[in-house]
Amino acid sequence: MKQIALYGKGGIGKSTTAANISAALALRGLDVLQIGCDPKRDSTRMLVQGRLIPTVMDLVRERGDAGISREDVVYTGFAGVKCVEAGGPEPGVGCAGRGIIATFQVLERLGALCADVVVYDVLGDVVCGGFAMPMREGYAQEVYLVTSGELMSLYAANNICKAIARLSSRTRGTCRLAGVICNARDVRGEEELVGEFARRIGSTLVGFIPRDPVVQQAELNRKTVVEFAPESRQAAIYRDLAARILENRRMDIPVPLGMEELETLAYEFTP
Ligand code: SF4
Repeated sequence: MKQIALYGKGGIGKSTTAANISAALALRGLDVLQIGCDPKRDSTRMLVQGRLIPTVMDLVRERGDAGISREDVVYTGFAGVKCVEAGGPEPGVGCAGRGIIATFQVLERLGALCADVVVYDVLGDVVCGGFAMPMREGYAQEVYLVTSGELMSLYAANNICKAIARLSSRTRGTCRLAGVICNARDVRGEEELVGEFARRIGSTLVGFIPRDPVVQQAELNRKTVVEFAPESRQAAIYRDLAARILENRRMDIPVPLGMEELETLAYEFTP
């Protein structure tokens, strides 16, 4: 079972990226489970025709752990992707990881934490007290950082590197940085900047996703791009990224940058 986790600043496009990767992997015939961990619970929305599925946290609160069945928490979406939303408290509050811990416990009890590929879509903001939990507990083994070329986004990615470096130095630590994904914001020199950031932290750029209006069109139609516009260039980019992730064997302990180095780097690439 391959367990990948996408981390990055809130609003950077992790859920869109995760849902398209899941869809592309499922279309290759793989059994895929996507777990969203964000109080907004919209990680899996585009895989299930725009619905907001019930969250594990809400169900645990309502019925208690024992009253939950597999059908209550696992929803089948496009191409058979199994979708789970961990949920959490109100946005911005953070739950110190309770959402994701409760989800893992429930899924393990139900024997539902199994697939060829598990895709975790985890809010990695500083507001989230528990974002390191999947890494700490060994669920997120291959971490992909999703960032743009904007400084705040690189700053968040660099912070997540610090968490990975700290956790992977522990004896039980199994999480590693598998690569960086650039979800472009049309910053000039963006691909080169994010590529250089990846190199300096001791990793590599595994994918560059250009900005394309088809992403919004697909979302308005409540679908992933891979489903909505399979012939589009953007769908091909997501499929290519999914293939690279599937074949990727790279596992690094990253070396986070100092704040000054990060700023200098961004400055160098911004005309
Ligand atoms: S673990 Fe973090 S991302 Fe998940 S619901 Fe709790 S606060 Fe949010």
